[in-house]
Amino acid sequence: MNSPDIVVVGGGPIGLWTAILTKINTDKQNTDKQILVVEKYHEYKRADIRLKISPDSFAGIPDNSQLNELVAKWKSKKVLPIKEMEEELVKLANTLGIQILKGKEIDPKKLQEEYPSAKVFVGADGARSIMRSEFFDDKFRFNISLQRLVQVQYITKIPFTGDESSIKKVIDAYKKLKFAGYLIEQSISPIQNDIEYSKVSLRIFIDQKTYTKMKGATFAAPYYFDTHLHELPKKIQRVLIKWWGMHNHLMPISDRDLDKDKKTNKITVIPLATYASKEFVKVRKTDENDPGTVIANVGDSAQAHPYFRAINNGLKTATKLAKCIADAFQSEDKKPTQSIEQFASNFKSYSRYATFRAYVEGVRAIIRNIFINISKTWIEISGGLPWETIKVSDPKKIYKKGINVWRELTDEQPPEYKSPKPLHALKNVSRRRLK
Ligand SMILES: Cc1cc2nc3c(=O)[nH]c(=O)nc-3n(C[C@H](O)[C@H](O)[C@H](O)COP(=O)(O)OP(=O)(O)OC[C@H]3O[C@@H](n4cnc5c(N)ncnc54)[C@H](O)[C@@H]3O)c2cc1C
Repeated sequence: MNSPDIVVVGGGPIGLWTAILTKINTDKQNTDKQILVVEKYHEYKRADIRLKISPDSFAGIPDNSQLNELVAKWKSKKVLPIKEMEEELVKLANTLGIQILKGKEIDPKKLQEEYPSAKVFVGADGARSIMRSEFFDDKFRFNISLQRLVQVQYITKIPFTGDESSIKKVIDAYKKLKFAGYLIEQSISPIQNDIEYSKVSLRIFIDQKTYTKMKGATFAAPYYFDTHLHELPKKIQRVLIKWWGMHNHLMPISDRDLDKDKKTNKITVIPLATYASKEFVKVRKTDENDPGTVIANVGDSAQAHPYFRAINNGLKTATKLAKCIADAFQSEDKKPTQSIEQFASNFKSYSRYATFRAYVEGVRAIIRNIFINISKTWIEISGGLPWETIKVSDPKKIYKKGINVWRELTDEQPPEYKSPKPLHALKNVSRRRLK
């Protein structure tokens, strides 16, 4: 496409959603604008995330049969793999005539030079947005670090049967967390085209010190069991051994038993933060002769909030942005001589809405975080209390079972069992509170 009117930087779910809704809106208004989405990678990188999408995230979408069909399908699903979402959005974008250019990394400094016809640039380039840093100086309204997680993912030879919950399961889970000494979320998901195996994800809530030690385990360069298990902090090694001892039926399959190049297990650390950019829209004019452009950020590039909220918030704000872009072009069609400031005034309601959403989601994340901190502290303390009755029986035997799993995964020596010292955890917690 030689002369796009709108360029979206980033072909993740929110960039594609913005492009699709903008196209539908502009077509409805008969403004017929050319939209280009530029994506750095040929293959979308976030393959492992399973999203929980709330039906209200689709409020206010324009009426379009293909879009309605897609949304109805998503609404019927409990969880939606992010990759599936991205693939379906790419298909819909193609049918609507949106051009997607994959394998091209945008340098924001050259944007205008490369796309002189474009009047609107949308930064949808994710949490580490270069559009945000170039045009909004990486200034945040707020950026609050909430938690740090170790995410451990592996394949197990158990067919996926879905999640069931019962009182017994809750008590059982409580005992297990106490024995592990950490707040841990375990989820089991199916593997595409494979009914014999499932995928297990453990999310262990860790402290700052452990996070710092494991900072190298990023998404781009994860740790693997056979090479890194023995390098993890001892505390985490013991948690995994305890966990595997308690979940023998969900034993990880060693990569050594699989294809050499295929790594199925991964250990990464994830910081969870709630943040929002200080501004979401900007008018840019390089000099007096420049008619000017509008830059707007959306999705993780503009704001993100943990605990299953980021994508929902991204969809809502992108729906609003798409409407504002279409309204701006419609106003230009009616009054071609208007200034860039007049054109940009159509984006005010997006800025207001994005700000409102940032505070709603930010507060929600902080409240949820308080409960997580209380649970973390309770699990840490109660595991060491001598009078606690809800506990696993024969912890050493469980640990031994876990060591058997460890030995399947690595030749390195496992750490020895350490019994929780009564009230030791309580002292640790109160010391941390006093600091
Ligand atoms: C481990 C993990 C688990 C998560 N779980 C959940 C969950 O359960 N629920 C939830 O709601 N959210 C979750 N999220 C957040 C969710 O993934 C994001 O909110 C969502 O991906 C945001 O979409 P996006 O399109 O804004 O950004 P991204 O998905 O990050 O897409 C940005 C795109 O921009 C591209 N890009 C970057 N720079 C350039 C450039 N210079 N030129 C061209 N292209 C560029 C990137 O390649 C990428 O494809 C999770 C995130 C992580 C990391």
